[in-house]
Amino acid sequence: MITNKDLANLMYPNITKSPCDYEKKYPERKLPEGAVVSRFAPSPTGFVHMGSLLTALVAAKVPKDTRGIFFLRIEDTDGKRKVENGIQGIIDDLVNFDIQIDEGVVSESEEKGKYGPYVQTRRKEIYDTYAKYMIENDLAYPCFCTEKELENIRDRQEKNKERIGYYGSFAKCRYLSIDEAYRRIKNGEKYVIRLKSPGNFNKKIEFNDLVRGKMVFPENDIDVILVKSDGIPVYHFAHVIDDHLMRTTHILRGEEWLSSTPVHLQLFEMLKFKAPRYAHLGLVMKIDEDGTRRKLSKRKDPEAAVSYYHERGIPAEAVKLYLMTLANSNFEEWLNQNIDKGIDDFTFNFKKMSMSGSLFDVEKLLNISRNYISRLSKEEVYRGLCAWALEFDNYFYNLIVKYKNYTLDILNIEREQKKPRKDYANYSEIKEQIFYMYDELYNPSDYEWGNISEKQEIIHILDVYMDNYFDVSDKDNWFNKIKELTDDLGYASNMKEYKINPHEYKGSVADISTVLRVAITSKCMTPDLYVIMKLLGKERIQTRLKLLKEKLSL
Ligand code: GLU
Repeated sequence: MITNKDLANLMYPNITKSPCDYEKKYPERKLPEGAVVSRFAPSPTGFVHMGSLLTALVAAKVPKDTRGIFFLRIEDTDGKRKVENGIQGIIDDLVNFDIQIDEGVVSESEEKGKYGPYVQTRRKEIYDTYAKYMIENDLAYPCFCTEKELENIRDRQEKNKERIGYYGSFAKCRYLSIDEAYRRIKNGEKYVIRLKSPGNFNKKIEFNDLVRGKMVFPENDIDVILVKSDGIPVYHFAHVIDDHLMRTTHILRGEEWLSSTPVHLQLFEMLKFKAPRYAHLGLVMKIDEDGTRRKLSKRKDPEAAVSYYHERGIPAEAVKLYLMTLANSNFEEWLNQNIDKGIDDFTFNFKKMSMSGSLFDVEKLLNISRNYISRLSKEEVYRGLCAWALEFDNYFYNLIVKYKNYTLDILNIEREQKKPRKDYANYSEIKEQIFYMYDELYNPSDYEWGNISEKQEIIHILDVYMDNYFDVSDKDNWFNKIKELTDDLGYASNMKEYKINPHEYKGSVADISTVLRVAITSKCMTPDLYVIMKLLGKERIQTRLKLLKEKLSL
């Protein structure tokens, strides 16, 4: 008589190991009480999406808070979704965002840690062993149904308004005799391996989702596919085996997996594995122009790709701070009260996660980034700017390296003080804001004149200023001289008085300062003009004014 064991041996003749061997090879981890082991388990489909970066951030944060382990596993069993250099792309994204892994995949060909391999296609023997075990123990069976047969089942279910799926009396191959299954495999028929689900749809299963609280679902009674006809496991099977053997305690994943959790819990039970805790994270959403909320899409939204932030020079830390505000509703308030602290100082709480997902708001992200950059030291901004420019603007990179100290002084304008200036939301916009500090970049065709725009008057103001009032020895002297110039030319140096009797003056000290500012920088809005002038120095200012006069006289 043919037994399940014979069938299992026919299906997996080369598998000699048993689950016991793997239990021994991957023992329970010795970690402090309460330590969380979690992982990031992306498919290598190109780049990390903002939604998955959020998952990775949280999955890395919780072990950090609890002295646990965070590892990276690559789920590459779906050959169709794979792209070239997909693994490296993921690793690069994690490195760029400074999300450190304790274990797992560190490059296309390297791994670290004792619970590997961490790339699913390298784990075939393990999956085979467990599939063999399940066949042997009558927990799974081969299914020979063709596409056509499955379609017929579905049609019938639709017609009779029955639940769709391969279950109960619809699960034809579940009832094949072992002899027949054996014979058909021997004959070379194609088959998949299905779970022999012990579930009853009319009964309920409960579990506690860390984000959503108590969840109640019908028990799974569908004989889901565990192993495809090419011998590759599907997600359900690989997830349960991998996370058991890697001793994951917490599964953080997207909410799209919530409805499959009953299948996973059933599998954990059938294999006598201890089930992990689950946290299903809400989607990262976007509002379309027509007001509809939808998932932030890898395909449609450029801001969904993490490379978008890298290219624009938005500091990774700022992106992480923003994502953390999406992850924990109390983070923003905490950050406002602890402006000099970072994510590491904050304790993450699953209860403060939104169940309904979060709305992605690039403006808010830029605002957080602006605040973040404003609090950096001049050296830190310089480093960030150099790193960005080296990759994306070589000419500017060479300039800021050549004039390093000068650039540091520029970046330090209104920085390193209680209320620093919040000019830059990203490194890519710094050049356009400070170009006028570099003669190599300064060749304006457009001057943003204010109230005084008449050529003769502008030239007159500049001439008198340079001849009699130029002084950058200190800020008070500088400003007093500008006030003297103002009075001398019939403008009001006292703003209060000017407001009371505007008709008695040609304008105010603000107008005069604007002329100087625009004449020197071409811009009507700049940081502290005194520092700008001091850094430029008299000679360069003179050259600029000469150039301006030539342009105005044309
Ligand atoms: N590879 C799965 C995905 O990309 C991972 C889900 C999980 O974390 O278990 O959706």
